[in-house]
Amino acid sequence: MNRVWAAGTLLVLLVILVVVAWQSIPWHRPPAPRPDQLAALDQLPADQVARGRAFHAELRPGSYGAMLLTLIVALVIGLTPLGAGLVTQAGRPFGGHWLAQAILGGFAVVLVSEVVTLPLAAWRHTIVVRYGISTQSWGAWTVDLLKSFAVGAVIGGLALAGFYTVTHFAPRWWWAIGAAGAAGLVVLLSFVLPVVVEPVFNKFTPMADGPLRTELMELAARDGVPVKDVLVADASRRTRAVNAYVSGLGPTRRIVVYDTMLTEAEPAEVVSVAAHELGHAKDGDVLTGTILGALGTAAAVIVLFLLGSWQWLLSRAGVDTISEPRAIGLLLALVTLAGLIAGPAQAFVSRRIEARADEHALVLTGDPATFEAMQRRLGTLNLSDPDPPAWEHLMFASHPSTVERMAAARAYARGER
Ligand SMILES: [Zn+2]
Repeated sequence: MNRVWAAGTLLVLLVILVVVAWQSIPWHRPPAPRPDQLAALDQLPADQVARGRAFHAELRPGSYGAMLLTLIVALVIGLTPLGAGLVTQAGRPFGGHWLAQAILGGFAVVLVSEVVTLPLAAWRHTIVVRYGISTQSWGAWTVDLLKSFAVGAVIGGLALAGFYTVTHFAPRWWWAIGAAGAAGLVVLLSFVLPVVVEPVFNKFTPMADGPLRTELMELAARDGVPVKDVLVADASRRTRAVNAYVSGLGPTRRIVVYDTMLTEAEPAEVVSVAAHELGHAKDGDVLTGTILGALGTAAAVIVLFLLGSWQWLLSRAGVDTISEPRAIGLLLALVTLAGLIAGPAQAFVSRRIEARADEHALVLTGDPATFEAMQRRLGTLNLSDPDPPAWEHLMFASHPSTVERMAAARAYARGER
């Protein structure tokens, strides 16, 4: 009976997920015509294109190596009794109490994966430093790493403690409480992360009064998007790359511009980027992401519960039930696998949403020439591959490529979009 309820709830969640995704994601928005893209590519300086390609060719082995290694470690820990053994050991100093197993066992399992991939992360750092993208010393890089471990430990520790408290006290109905709790956590985090976690890594200061700030606030007002503030992040202490983004919902919403952007780009280009970010706010992309994330996470908890009656899986991991902390390794393996499978779909959705925000910027500013100049500058400063290999773009790219974005501006200028 319990399983029937779970399966029914899962079905309802998936239907809502599909309806929300159908309504809120601009599916029918193919990239700009390929001839326009090739024309744009032709106009980029050849040495810049070559440098971007060389940079990404050097990064590739480390990136895919890390991906593969993470999967292998997760599968080895999750589908052998190794993970259960690790969790048992971690809980031993506390008499094997389930809460100690949940928190410390979770840390132990994640730590193994982090340590194994650490050399690849360090390798990546040497490459981004050599190409002048990163401005971080090894010391600063290590501090960032430790900070992200600490943030992950706090959020992960709370999530694990919460989850296993529920499975402990509601062994039959944990899927229902767990799904609701997980969805709630996703919503909470999307409010809290920008305000609490982002300042751990960067300092944010309100943009100084002046023509640019006035223009950005006027742009937001003209667009009908309430923005609390325009903040500048001190990204230059870490990178030479430029970026801007919008984060937070409702009262925590703000436009954030990297300080690198203000020194490297023309004010009109900053306006163009901000117009793109306002597009995200106006179309409720952060909210959409939060809702889809919450629904997806709730569904994942129920899938986990249903998988828990698959004896083969449990005996691989050497556990009695999927709801005990000793199954954390198995949990991590399933999450890692699901993440890899869902990645290309998420990237596809993201690219379509980004293309819509680009169009918003074009319409709002009515200035495709500056938009194209800004894309060119973003590509140059961030050492993008302006026209990456098609398979890589399909699998992983969260944004349209530089030439796709330049081509979109050209199509818009001709009145085609
Ligand atoms: Zn965007």
